[in-house]
Amino acid sequence: RAYLSSIVVDVSDRNRFEAELQAKTAELARSNAELEQFAYVASHDLRQPLRMVTSYVTLLERHLGETLDESSREFIGYTISGVRRMDALIKGLLDYSRVGRGGETLSDLDLEEVVADSCANLGLTGSSDEATVLVEHPLPRILGISSELIRLFQNLIGNAVKYRHPERKPEIRLSSRRQGNEWIITVEDNGLGIGAEHFERIFGMFQRLHAEGEFEGTGIGLAICRKIVTTHGGRIWVESEEGAGSRFMVALPASRAAARGLATH
Ligand code: ADP
Repeated sequence: RAYLSSIVVDVSDRNRFEAELQAKTAELARSNAELEQFAYVASHDLRQPLRMVTSYVTLLERHLGETLDESSREFIGYTISGVRRMDALIKGLLDYSRVGRGGETLSDLDLEEVVADSCANLGLTGSSDEATVLVEHPLPRILGISSELIRLFQNLIGNAVKYRHPERKPEIRLSSRRQGNEWIITVEDNGLGIGAEHFERIFGMFQRLHAEGEFEGTGIGLAICRKIVTTHGGRIWVESEEGAGSRFMVALPASRAAARGLATH
Protein backbone atom coordinates (compact mmCIF):
# COMPACT_ATOMS: atom_id res chain seq x y z
CA ARG A 1 0.00 0.00 0.00
CA ALA A 2 2.85 2.36 0.92
CA TYR A 3 4.53 1.48 -2.38
CA LEU A 4 1.29 2.11 -4.29
CA SER A 5 0.73 5.47 -2.63
CA SER A 6 4.29 6.52 -3.50
CA ILE A 7 3.52 5.76 -7.16
CA VAL A 8 0.32 7.82 -6.89
CA VAL A 9 2.36 10.71 -5.48
CA ASP A 10 4.83 10.29 -8.35
CA VAL A 11 2.06 10.40 -10.94
CA SER A 12 0.39 13.44 -9.42
CA ASP A 13 3.81 15.17 -9.18
CA ARG A 14 4.35 14.44 -12.84
CA ASN A 15 0.90 15.74 -13.77
CA ARG A 16 1.54 18.92 -11.81
CA PHE A 17 4.94 19.33 -13.45
CA GLU A 18 3.44 18.86 -16.91
CA ALA A 19 0.67 21.35 -16.18
CA GLU A 20 3.24 23.89 -14.98
CA LEU A 21 5.37 23.30 -18.05
CA GLN A 22 2.37 23.80 -20.31
CA ALA A 23 1.41 27.01 -18.53
CA LYS A 24 4.99 28.34 -18.77
CA THR A 25 5.20 27.44 -22.48
CA ALA A 26 1.89 29.22 -23.15
CA GLU A 27 3.09 32.26 -21.19
CA LEU A 28 6.34 32.34 -23.17
CA ALA A 29 4.49 32.04 -26.49
CA ARG A 30 2.18 34.89 -25.41
CA SER A 31 5.01 37.22 -24.43
CA ASN A 32 6.88 36.33 -27.64
CA ALA A 33 3.81 37.20 -29.68
CA GLU A 34 3.43 40.48 -27.75
CA LEU A 35 7.07 41.35 -28.38
CA GLU A 36 6.70 40.63 -32.09
CA GLN A 37 3.53 42.71 -32.23
CA PHE A 38 5.36 45.55 -30.50
CA ALA A 39 8.31 45.31 -32.93
CA TYR A 40 5.89 45.34 -35.85
CA VAL A 41 3.90 48.37 -34.71
CA ALA A 42 6.96 50.30 -33.51
CA SER A 43 8.89 49.77 -36.73
CA HIS A 44 5.85 50.42 -38.90
CA ASP A 45 5.19 53.74 -37.15
CA LEU A 46 8.86 54.71 -37.16
CA ARG A 47 9.10 54.54 -40.92
CA GLN A 48 6.61 57.33 -41.48
CA PRO A 49 8.52 60.20 -39.76
CA LEU A 50 11.75 58.83 -41.15
CA ARG A 51 10.38 59.15 -44.69
CA MET A 52 9.58 62.78 -43.95
CA VAL A 53 13.15 63.46 -42.78
CA THR A 54 14.55 61.74 -45.89
CA SER A 55 12.41 63.71 -48.30
CA TYR A 56 13.05 67.08 -46.63
CA VAL A 57 16.80 66.59 -46.40
CA THR A 58 16.87 65.43 -50.03
CA LEU A 59 14.88 68.52 -51.03
CA LEU A 60 17.24 70.71 -49.02
CA GLU A 61 20.20 69.25 -50.87
CA ARG A 62 18.51 69.71 -54.24
CA HIS A 63 17.49 73.33 -53.61
CA LEU A 64 20.49 74.61 -51.70
CA GLY A 65 23.15 72.20 -52.93
CA GLU A 66 24.83 74.75 -55.22
CA THR A 67 24.85 77.55 -52.68
CA LEU A 68 26.23 75.53 -49.76
CA ASP A 69 29.89 75.25 -48.86
CA GLU A 70 31.63 71.91 -49.06
CA SER A 71 31.36 70.95 -45.40
CA SER A 72 27.62 71.74 -45.26
CA ARG A 73 27.11 69.55 -48.32
CA GLU A 74 29.13 66.84 -46.60
CA PHE A 75 26.92 67.07 -43.48
CA ILE A 76 23.79 66.76 -45.59
CA GLY A 77 25.35 63.72 -47.29
CA TYR A 78 26.03 62.10 -43.89
CA THR A 79 22.48 62.84 -42.77
CA ILE A 80 21.00 61.26 -45.90
CA SER A 81 23.11 58.12 -45.61
CA GLY A 82 22.37 57.85 -41.86
CA VAL A 83 18.64 58.13 -42.47
CA ARG A 84 18.82 55.60 -45.32
CA ARG A 85 20.65 53.20 -43.05
CA MET A 86 18.05 53.63 -40.32
CA ASP A 87 15.30 53.02 -42.89
CA ALA A 88 17.04 49.80 -43.99
CA LEU A 89 17.28 48.69 -40.33
CA ILE A 90 13.60 49.38 -39.69
CA LYS A 91 12.61 47.61 -42.91
CA GLY A 92 14.72 44.63 -41.81
CA LEU A 93 13.01 44.56 -38.40
CA LEU A 94 9.59 44.78 -40.05
CA ASP A 95 10.47 41.95 -42.44
CA TYR A 96 11.72 39.90 -39.49
CA SER A 97 8.54 40.41 -37.48
CA ARG A 98 6.40 39.57 -40.53
CA VAL A 99 7.90 36.09 -40.97
CA GLY A 100 5.45 33.40 -39.97
CA ARG A 101 2.59 35.81 -39.20
CA GLY A 102 0.25 33.52 -41.07
CA GLY A 103 -0.80 35.82 -43.92
CA GLU A 104 -0.02 33.21 -46.56
CA THR A 105 -0.88 29.56 -46.86
CA LEU A 106 1.50 26.68 -47.36
CA SER A 107 1.75 25.31 -50.86
CA ASP A 108 3.56 22.55 -52.65
CA LEU A 109 6.51 24.37 -54.22
CA ASP A 110 9.09 23.44 -56.79
CA LEU A 111 12.41 24.61 -55.29
CA GLU A 112 13.81 25.01 -58.80
CA GLU A 113 11.27 27.79 -59.38
CA VAL A 114 11.85 29.26 -55.93
CA VAL A 115 15.59 29.50 -56.59
CA ALA A 116 15.02 30.93 -60.09
CA ASP A 117 12.79 33.65 -58.58
CA SER A 118 15.39 34.39 -55.89
CA CYS A 119 18.08 34.81 -58.56
CA ALA A 120 15.80 36.97 -60.71
CA ASN A 121 15.14 39.27 -57.72
CA LEU A 122 18.90 39.65 -57.33
CA GLY A 123 19.31 40.34 -61.05
CA LEU A 124 21.32 37.13 -61.51
CA THR A 125 20.93 34.83 -64.46
CA GLY A 126 22.75 31.47 -64.72
CA SER A 127 26.15 32.89 -65.56
CA SER A 128 26.36 36.67 -65.57
CA ASP A 129 29.52 38.77 -65.41
CA GLU A 130 28.87 39.29 -61.73
CA ALA A 131 28.49 35.68 -60.58
CA THR A 132 27.87 32.11 -61.69
CA VAL A 133 24.97 30.23 -60.11
CA LEU A 134 25.06 26.48 -60.66
CA VAL A 135 22.07 24.35 -59.72
CA GLU A 136 22.46 20.58 -59.41
CA HIS A 137 19.15 19.43 -60.89
CA PRO A 138 16.64 18.46 -59.82
CA LEU A 139 15.87 20.33 -56.63
CA PRO A 140 12.95 18.81 -54.70
CA ARG A 141 9.40 19.98 -54.11
CA ILE A 142 8.89 21.49 -50.66
CA LEU A 143 5.78 22.33 -48.70
CA GLY A 144 6.24 25.97 -47.79
CA ILE A 145 5.35 29.63 -48.09
CA SER A 146 6.49 30.82 -51.48
CA SER A 147 7.49 34.42 -50.66
CA GLU A 148 9.40 33.30 -47.56
CA LEU A 149 11.39 30.57 -49.29
CA ILE A 150 12.21 32.99 -52.13
CA ARG A 151 13.46 35.43 -49.51
CA LEU A 152 15.49 32.70 -47.79
CA PHE A 153 17.43 31.77 -50.95
CA GLN A 154 17.65 35.39 -52.02
CA ASN A 155 19.42 36.25 -48.75
CA LEU A 156 21.77 33.25 -48.95
CA ILE A 157 22.66 33.72 -52.64
CA GLY A 158 22.87 37.51 -52.19
CA ASN A 159 25.35 37.06 -49.32
CA ALA A 160 27.38 34.58 -51.36
CA VAL A 161 27.81 37.29 -54.01
CA LYS A 162 28.35 40.13 -51.54
CA TYR A 163 31.00 38.39 -49.41
CA ARG A 164 33.00 37.40 -52.47
CA HIS A 165 36.72 36.76 -52.42
CA PRO A 166 38.53 39.72 -54.01
CA GLU A 167 40.47 37.42 -56.33
CA ARG A 168 37.67 35.13 -57.51
CA LYS A 169 34.46 35.56 -59.46
CA PRO A 170 31.65 34.34 -57.16
CA GLU A 171 30.52 30.81 -57.95
CA ILE A 172 27.46 29.59 -56.10
CA ARG A 173 26.42 25.95 -56.18
CA LEU A 174 23.00 24.75 -55.04
CA SER A 175 22.33 21.09 -54.40
CA SER A 176 20.00 18.87 -52.39
CA ARG A 177 19.93 15.45 -50.82
CA ARG A 178 17.32 13.47 -48.99
CA GLN A 179 18.15 12.49 -45.41
CA GLY A 180 15.42 10.58 -43.60
CA ASN A 181 12.33 12.73 -43.56
CA GLU A 182 14.14 15.91 -44.56
CA TRP A 183 15.64 17.56 -47.59
CA ILE A 184 19.06 19.08 -47.00
CA ILE A 185 19.60 21.97 -49.39
CA THR A 186 23.12 23.34 -49.68
CA VAL A 187 24.18 26.79 -50.89
CA GLU A 188 27.93 26.70 -51.38
CA ASP A 189 30.15 29.65 -52.31
CA ASN A 190 33.81 30.33 -53.01
CA GLY A 191 33.83 33.60 -51.09
CA LEU A 192 35.58 35.01 -48.03
CA GLY A 193 34.55 32.20 -45.68
CA ILE A 194 33.68 32.45 -41.98
CA GLY A 195 35.73 31.52 -38.90
CA ALA A 196 34.38 28.56 -36.91
CA GLU A 197 33.95 30.76 -33.82
CA HIS A 198 31.24 32.72 -35.69
CA PHE A 199 29.21 29.78 -37.07
CA GLU A 200 26.46 30.17 -34.49
CA ARG A 201 26.34 33.89 -33.86
CA ILE A 202 25.93 35.06 -37.48
CA PHE A 203 22.31 33.81 -37.34
CA GLY A 204 21.59 36.23 -34.47
CA MET A 205 20.16 39.71 -34.92
CA PHE A 206 22.60 42.51 -35.93
CA GLN A 207 25.62 40.19 -36.03
CA ARG A 208 28.15 41.30 -38.63
CA LEU A 209 31.72 40.11 -39.06
CA HIS A 210 33.06 42.85 -41.27
CA ALA A 211 33.95 46.45 -40.48
CA GLU A 212 31.17 49.01 -40.86
CA GLY A 213 31.43 50.55 -44.33
CA GLU A 214 33.27 47.59 -45.87
CA PHE A 215 30.04 45.90 -47.05
CA GLU A 216 26.53 47.31 -46.99
CA GLY A 217 24.16 45.47 -44.70
CA THR A 218 22.19 45.43 -41.47
CA GLY A 219 23.00 42.06 -39.92
CA ILE A 220 19.33 41.03 -40.09
CA GLY A 221 19.40 38.85 -43.23
CA LEU A 222 20.53 35.59 -41.65
CA ALA A 223 18.28 36.13 -38.60
CA ILE A 224 15.39 36.33 -41.08
CA CYS A 225 16.66 33.14 -42.77
CA ARG A 226 16.74 31.32 -39.44
CA LYS A 227 13.23 32.46 -38.56
CA ILE A 228 11.90 31.41 -41.98
CA VAL A 229 13.52 27.99 -41.69
CA THR A 230 12.42 27.33 -38.10
CA THR A 231 8.84 28.42 -38.79
CA HIS A 232 8.92 25.89 -41.65
CA GLY A 233 9.92 23.21 -39.14
CA GLY A 234 13.54 23.07 -40.28
CA ARG A 235 17.10 23.98 -39.28
CA ILE A 236 19.87 26.12 -40.77
CA TRP A 237 23.60 26.04 -40.11
CA VAL A 238 26.91 26.83 -41.79
CA GLU A 239 30.16 25.03 -42.49
CA SER A 240 33.06 27.10 -43.72
CA GLU A 241 36.77 27.62 -44.03
CA GLU A 242 38.10 31.16 -43.89
CA GLY A 243 39.50 32.23 -47.24
CA ALA A 244 38.05 29.21 -49.08
CA GLY A 245 34.26 29.66 -48.97
CA SER A 246 31.11 28.78 -47.06
CA ARG A 247 28.41 26.15 -47.21
CA PHE A 248 25.02 27.11 -45.82
CA MET A 249 22.83 24.10 -45.11
CA VAL A 250 19.06 24.22 -44.83
CA ALA A 251 17.13 21.17 -43.60
CA LEU A 252 13.42 21.28 -44.45
CA PRO A 253 10.74 18.65 -43.86
CA ALA A 254 10.08 16.69 -47.05
CA SER A 255 6.82 17.82 -48.69
CA ARG A 256 3.75 15.64 -48.94
CA ALA A 257 4.53 15.13 -52.63
CA ALA A 258 8.08 14.01 -51.87
CA ALA A 259 6.84 11.78 -49.06
CA ARG A 260 4.55 10.05 -51.55
CA GLY A 261 7.59 9.37 -53.69
CA LEU A 262 6.69 11.85 -56.42
CA ALA A 263 10.08 13.55 -56.25
CA THR A 264 12.58 12.20 -58.70
CA HIS A 265 15.51 11.66 -56.38
P1 ADP B 1 24.37 41.48 -43.56
O1 ADP B 1 24.81 40.84 -44.83
O2 ADP B 1 23.26 42.47 -43.74
O3 ADP B 1 25.52 42.05 -42.77
P2 ADP B 1 23.51 38.85 -42.60
O4 ADP B 1 22.66 38.57 -41.40
O5 ADP B 1 22.98 38.42 -43.91
O6 ADP B 1 23.77 40.40 -42.56
O7 ADP B 1 24.91 38.17 -42.37
C1 ADP B 1 25.58 38.34 -41.12
C2 ADP B 1 27.09 38.35 -41.32
O8 ADP B 1 27.55 37.04 -41.67
C3 ADP B 1 27.54 39.25 -42.46
O9 ADP B 1 27.71 40.59 -42.03
C4 ADP B 1 28.86 38.59 -42.88
O10 ADP B 1 29.90 39.06 -42.04
C5 ADP B 1 28.62 37.11 -42.59
N1 ADP B 1 28.25 36.34 -43.80
C6 ADP B 1 26.99 36.03 -44.20
N2 ADP B 1 26.99 35.29 -45.32
C7 ADP B 1 28.29 35.11 -45.65
C8 ADP B 1 28.97 34.42 -46.71
N3 ADP B 1 28.31 33.74 -47.67
N4 ADP B 1 30.34 34.46 -46.72
C9 ADP B 1 31.03 35.13 -45.76
N5 ADP B 1 30.44 35.79 -44.73
C10 ADP B 1 29.10 35.80 -44.67
